Amino acid sequence: MNAMLTLEELKQEFATGSIDTVLACMVDMQGRLMGKRFHADYFINHAVEETHSCNYLLATDLEMETVDGYKSTSWEAGYGDYVMKPDMSTLRRVPWLEGTALVLCDVLDHHHNPIPHSPRAILRKQIERLSAMGIQPMMATELEFFLFDQSYTQACESGYRDMKLASAYNEDYHIFQTTKEEGVIRAMRNGIYGAGIAVECSKGEASAGQEEINIKYDKALTTADQHSIVKNACKEIAWEHGKAITFMAKWHNEAAGSSSHVHQSMWSLDGKPLFLDESRPHGMSELMSHYLAGLLAHADDVTYLLAPYINSYKRFQEGTFAPTKAVWSLDNRTAGFRLCGEGTKAIRIECRIGGADLNPYLALAGQLASGIAGIEQKLALEPEFVGDAYAGENARQVPNTLRAATEKMDASTMLREAFGDDVVDHYVHAARWEQKEHDKRVTDWEVARGFERA
Ligand code: ADP
Repeated sequence: MNAMLTLEELKQEFATGSIDTVLACMVDMQGRLMGKRFHADYFINHAVEETHSCNYLLATDLEMETVDGYKSTSWEAGYGDYVMKPDMSTLRRVPWLEGTALVLCDVLDHHHNPIPHSPRAILRKQIERLSAMGIQPMMATELEFFLFDQSYTQACESGYRDMKLASAYNEDYHIFQTTKEEGVIRAMRNGIYGAGIAVECSKGEASAGQEEINIKYDKALTTADQHSIVKNACKEIAWEHGKAITFMAKWHNEAAGSSSHVHQSMWSLDGKPLFLDESRPHGMSELMSHYLAGLLAHADDVTYLLAPYINSYKRFQEGTFAPTKAVWSLDNRTAGFRLCGEGTKAIRIECRIGGADLNPYLALAGQLASGIAGIEQKLALEPEFVGDAYAGENARQVPNTLRAATEKMDASTMLREAFGDDVVDHYVHAARWEQKEHDKRVTDWEVARGFERA
């Protein structure tokens, strides 16, 4: 049974009664699927051309506040509509929901021009820049999360206290521990596979209750699309099993953080590995050395795109496998950038800075824009870092607060040239809003520490 569907196949599935619902989804600023559930009949005959959504969906926060101060929309401007244009190459079955298919949509204005700050448009633009240079980016995003033996409702009702992790001790690569979680994790792997996504494996991760799902690398836009679908799939499948999962970058101060490492390699349009040159050290081509130099030179500028919330920065702790230094290394997990597949066709760079809470479209676009700058300016690559990067006193730091990362993004001429001023200003506004929302709140840690003692 084909997982991906053409319109003709959808019509047939509707005629035989096996599909009756089509989810038409756009991706919001947080990387989430937002959209509508169509009756298949109406989708096939009408919404297949286009549908609409309120434009506040690209001017809001995790809580879906109507945030003041965006240029793109406001109460003043009346919060009108965007056009959601189904990208029919993404139409697929959703095996974990009965009788359901899903299609991703591009976000357009009423004249059918792309909305520049929509995540899919931002990534498309960087892919097009590379394509004009004869380069096809191939990327993968790993996805880590924590699994709990309780439902989202129970977690919410308990105020997210006394949470029941799915296992009691570190389950990194641990088969017996992860066997206990197979009821839900196997359903995730098989569900994702049935939606046309090449799932490689799941594995236990380095904390109690922590799992990882790996998807095979693919073209950059496909990878970002799949990342958003997989994240939604894992939540829905967990929910169907009465379980909760979280993709927070750091859900608990005593637990490991959850990452989303970004693997990246560049290929020619006819499929030759442009990062490989066996005659050079490590098999790293000149193009790859410039690309990597660009990633390093602009690591600060794009940290926000890998770590978009206050909580994201709690993950950057020494000795936790989450990086604190934006240096590159050969297969060394203490560095922000790790060269993998040395001397082989699989030679690639893994950016380890991103958390599982990143928006994949923005994260990938930020990496590509940095790499393009490196290639265009033929930036020279510094020597690799050797040893424990956490201890590297003079090594380049990853910005360690949302405030610092926001200022770097705002000041980045590289990003302003690559994304456009309005797009950068849009996300700087989102970042400052997030900071402000945090700054006005008193946390339980402050109260416990100071209530009596201060
Ligand atoms: P790790 O040991 O870090 O988990 P893996 O070998 O499992 O590394 O690969 C991690 C990810 O890298 C997978 O999603 C895989 O598809 C992806 N990957 C493999 N080769 C490439 C490549 N040439 N370009 C981009 N990503 C790749």
